Amino acid sequence: MEKIQMKTPLVEMDGDEMTRILWKMIKEELLLPFIDLKTEYYDLGLEHRNETDDQVTVDAAKATMKYGVAVKCATITPNAARMTEYNLKEMWKSPNGTIRALLDGTVFRAPIVVKGIEPCVRNWKKPITIARHAYGDVYKNTEMRIPGPGKVELVYTAEDGTTTSELVHNFTGAGVVQGMHNLDDSIESFARSCFEYALDTHQDLWFATKDTISKKYDHRFKDIFAEIYEKDYKEKFENTGITYFYTLIDDAVARIMKAEGGFIWACKNYDGDVMSDMVSSAFGSLAMMTSVLVSPHGYYEYEAAHGTVQRHYYRHLKGEETSTNSVATIFAWTGALRKRGELDGIDALCTFADKLETATLHVIESGKMTKDLALITTIEDPVVLNSRDFILAIREELEKN
Ligand code: NAP
Ligand code: MG
Repeated sequence: MEKIQMKTPLVEMDGDEMTRILWKMIKEELLLPFIDLKTEYYDLGLEHRNETDDQVTVDAAKATMKYGVAVKCATITPNAARMTEYNLKEMWKSPNGTIRALLDGTVFRAPIVVKGIEPCVRNWKKPITIARHAYGDVYKNTEMRIPGPGKVELVYTAEDGTTTSELVHNFTGAGVVQGMHNLDDSIESFARSCFEYALDTHQDLWFATKDTISKKYDHRFKDIFAEIYEKDYKEKFENTGITYFYTLIDDAVARIMKAEGGFIWACKNYDGDVMSDMVSSAFGSLAMMTSVLVSPHGYYEYEAAHGTVQRHYYRHLKGEETSTNSVATIFAWTGALRKRGELDGIDALCTFADKLETATLHVIESGKMTKDLALITTIEDPVVLNSRDFILAIREELEKN
């Protein structure tokens, strides 16, 4: 069989622990036999990040800006325990944070829907993609405990020294106060990423805030989305046959529970944090969740939503068998390959991505799966495969097609 040829390399960001083991197996068994795989390789494994003073993460993000499409393995975000475990020079920042800051993107998370792993919400038939704004609000807040009676004000001092102030509260006793912010630029990027992604995936876009209560803050989000939609996307949406729908956050939540799925739900930072965990657990498993960072400049970075599966890795190191789910990591690769195929006009690459996804789902639907899925499947007597055998089963299925 002739291998599929690529034109532009994918930016390949390798990672840590169990997902690094899966990464290698996926490449060897599912990609290299079929594709003349072109990648520009960046080793984001913690050891190499430490050796390069984390320069490799910045280089990988810059390469993504050069080529447009990246695929990333899960990576360790160091904490105190990792400092000792890896003898780190510094507690390096989260690579995802570094990459997101450079690419200025929005993270879209979508569950992989498969027969036999049924969502807890019966009427959810299609995936619900959460688009989370990843800047500001409560994540960059300033808080104070107010010890007793007194006045709290918000004060803005312009560059020329003029000030404007608003009373927050006249405290008559102890309490708490919080200051948050966001930026028009960041909200605009968020909006554009969402509109672009909706067009790209042919799905309706929902957006919700609490603008009835937050008449300036949340209202700014609503207005920016509406302005950009009217100016740059209305016509494109109408031509594609998709809709942009704005509503209040509580109305959105109520509607989503009754909906069929198949749309994108754009969420402010906090809403996205909370709702993506709800949606992913309701759809079955974190191991069945894909994640893509889309920048308003048209860069894409695909990854699995889960971490490096540390506990499985330690078992692997002890020579014990693991049954780690590789589906989300496989779908990170197929997402990236399909996007590369689209951008370079290589149909064979897109078709291959489709086939690999179908083969993966077929294996699960035929009752062969990893332990995490076997515990929740509605399929009777599932066959539990180890990490390697699951990937080999997908290869066998792929070769049939
Ligand atoms: P995790 O790697 O997502 O794993 C948490 C637990 O979820 C696992 O112990 C496992 O449960 C289950 N699980 C997750 N993915 C699975 C899979 N593919 N197959 C089977 N089971 C799976 O989260 P963590 O253990 O909290 O974090 C480990 C490391 O990952 C940390 O260093 C963290 O910084 C990093 N992390 C990276 C990213 C990223 O790069 N995007 C995201 C999150 C976390 P059982 O052990 O019960 O089987
Ligand atoms: Mg969360």
